[in-house]
Amino acid sequence: MTDTNSPAARLAQRPYAQTLTGHKALVTGASSGIGRATALGLARAGADVVINYIGPAAGAEEVAQEITALGRRALTIAADVAQEDAVEQMFATALREFGTLHAVVSNAGLQRDSGFTEMTLEQWNTVMAVNLTGQFLTTRAAVREFKRRGPQEDITIALGKIVCMSSVHQVIPWGGHVNYAASKGGINMMMRSIAQEVAPLHIRVNAVAPGAIRTPINHDAWATPEAYQALLKLIPNGRIGEPDDIARAVAWLLSDDSDYVTGATLYVDGGMTLYPGFATGG
Ligand code: NAD
Repeated sequence: MTDTNSPAARLAQRPYAQTLTGHKALVTGASSGIGRATALGLARAGADVVINYIGPAAGAEEVAQEITALGRRALTIAADVAQEDAVEQMFATALREFGTLHAVVSNAGLQRDSGFTEMTLEQWNTVMAVNLTGQFLTTRAAVREFKRRGPQEDITIALGKIVCMSSVHQVIPWGGHVNYAASKGGINMMMRSIAQEVAPLHIRVNAVAPGAIRTPINHDAWATPEAYQALLKLIPNGRIGEPDDIARAVAWLLSDDSDYVTGATLYVDGGMTLYPGFATGG
């Protein structure tokens, strides 16, 4: 983001409302991209944050330092969200250190792209394991903790709140990425079914579906001027999304301001799902 007067830059400078004061939150895949921005955004809104990561610790430690500088608590935990034992361990550590969790963002995800006939079973399984099974394991552990703890009405109206990171590709088919699109379509039905099951407990489960956001996962789509111009044809809003655009939507869905919202997907995509190719014809 070089233009400091761009809409995205101006938004980034706006303070977050203190809607998550007293909250303990956990964000998976929080050492980079959307997860990193979300962990920082939740801290700016008043939450203490567990930063889950996989691989080198440096990125997660940087996020933790930024959160600490904001006056909030941060805790980094390495865990592969696709592994049941690792997710259970992560929650045990988070609960030991923070006492409980009120808000969980199931964000970790990856791509293993390939033409359909060339796609290996390993590419398929890897994407399903992280993007779908990882969200199942994370969400299940979160709901178990909300039920164990019971209400804390001085902190939040709901028993607990979850945001699943989906994608516009839960509705837009994506050739060359069949595994990824299938995993995101799966998140949609998983999220809504969990939301239906736990709504009577006043646990809210929602999803955010980002469009094209400037992160490492889609570097090739925005890194060169040619790629960026081609990308803009898909975005009526006329700019790529920034990770903070997503963080603000997540913060709202985790706050009591959205207390009557559950089972919803909030598209944060600059209009990508408005099918801009039909604006002048079709
Ligand atoms: P990213 O690559 O920066 O972030 C993904 C994070 O998940 C990384 O930090 C990675 O280390 C982590 N991760 C991967 N496998 C993991 C595992 N097994 N256990 C724990 N963590 C793991 O990319 P991003 O764009 O920030 O992606 C975040 C989420 O947003 C993903 O679910 C992605 O599908 C979704 N999304 C991104 C875009 C976009 O345009 N960037 C669009 C739609 C949806």
